[in-house]
Amino acid sequence: MRMYISRSLIGALLSLAIGLAQNPTPAPISPPLQTRPAVLGSLESYVAYPAGAGVPYAPASQLAKALGLGYLGGGSRLSLSIGSRVASFTVYPSEAQAVSGGGAWQRSGGIWVPLPLLARTLDLFYEVRGREIAVGLKPARLLGAVVTQSEGVERITLQLDRDVSARLLSDDRVGLVGVTGGEAEGVTINSVAYGLEVGLPGSGPARLYFLPRQVVVERGNPKGSRIPLVVIDPGHGGADPGTIQSGIREKDLTLNLAQTLRTLLAPSGIRVSLTRQGDQALSLQDRANAGAFAQVLLSVHVTPGDRVNLYTNPNQGKLLFISKGRQLLPNTPEPRKSLLLGYVSPEGSSTDFAKLLSEEISAVGVVSALGEGDYLALSQNGGAAVLVEFGFDNVSTPQGRQQLAQAMANAILKYLGRFQPTNSAPGTNPPPSSQPKPGGNP
Ligand SMILES: [Zn+2]
Repeated sequence: MRMYISRSLIGALLSLAIGLAQNPTPAPISPPLQTRPAVLGSLESYVAYPAGAGVPYAPASQLAKALGLGYLGGGSRLSLSIGSRVASFTVYPSEAQAVSGGGAWQRSGGIWVPLPLLARTLDLFYEVRGREIAVGLKPARLLGAVVTQSEGVERITLQLDRDVSARLLSDDRVGLVGVTGGEAEGVTINSVAYGLEVGLPGSGPARLYFLPRQVVVERGNPKGSRIPLVVIDPGHGGADPGTIQSGIREKDLTLNLAQTLRTLLAPSGIRVSLTRQGDQALSLQDRANAGAFAQVLLSVHVTPGDRVNLYTNPNQGKLLFISKGRQLLPNTPEPRKSLLLGYVSPEGSSTDFAKLLSEEISAVGVVSALGEGDYLALSQNGGAAVLVEFGFDNVSTPQGRQQLAQAMANAILKYLGRFQPTNSAPGTNPPPSSQPKPGGNP
């Protein structure tokens, strides 16, 4: 009996295999797609459930139009954004792969994205009402406007209670999508069908970008934009002492290291700024904002032990203006390229800089390790951003701090292509290389 079944099974498989070889059958037809009505913004549409899984997908371009989201597609990636929030998906041609990978699905006629993940990432309104799904913008309010002038740049910052989409309507008017109210001094506000229209002071060509819960309009070209800016962020401060070991407070060590580093960098002529000058508290968001346009951002911390940890932020380039800027970089001719390099560096710059820093630290006989961390202080920066954590044992003496500040200075100058052998303290460094590292930002 057994034998019989086996033989008949083998026979069936064989005849199937022969049949397939002789008559190639078309690709298997997936079961009919399950769908459900949906309201995207105020647009009647529908969602689909690819691969029969319970995840509703909606057409990305329709969603972007209905909600005024930023849309950036190309190749196998698709990003939708609202202000500084970006939801980025890998695009898969197969339904099953898209669902299991949490990605977007390439259908004939468009790319579809998973709605719950999109709503969560972009902080959208999302609700299942009986048979119907609704997705929309959460109401937002304008909280204020700040106008500043510095180094040849006029900046108008519109502050909101959440991230919103915005469009530059002209050089002196910006449209805020889905913003239902609020007030601000120094600008004029009109309610319109899609949100608010804000009239801006001043005149001249304007550009727009986003920071968390901020829409920024800028005019003018930064003076001295070819001179790189280095921002050093001494960790902790004020009521927050950081780690304390043998009565020594982290906040004092980080400030001392930052000040020593600034002194060492002074002769090179590059612009150096500290996020805090003394012993005061500073939020992580303020540190991130202060470092947003630095070509090098170094956040300094101290931890127990005798080794150094160097962290880059894997999500650093996710802001839309950074990723867009990076895409533009290879095809932008001079002199606009130099201007653009003031805002973004090529992808991988942070890792390149972290490696240079690690080499310089090793050269003074201290062990260092490279890692990644989603550090808020690094998140807004478009250049090379690293969080360095020294060991208390390395920096508890003035000599130790001087030596490691020198290592940081050497790495910064090498990264920027401005290293001069005379900058190096005698006997503490290997022979300097005459070539700046690739990926540096001269
Ligand atoms: Zn710390």
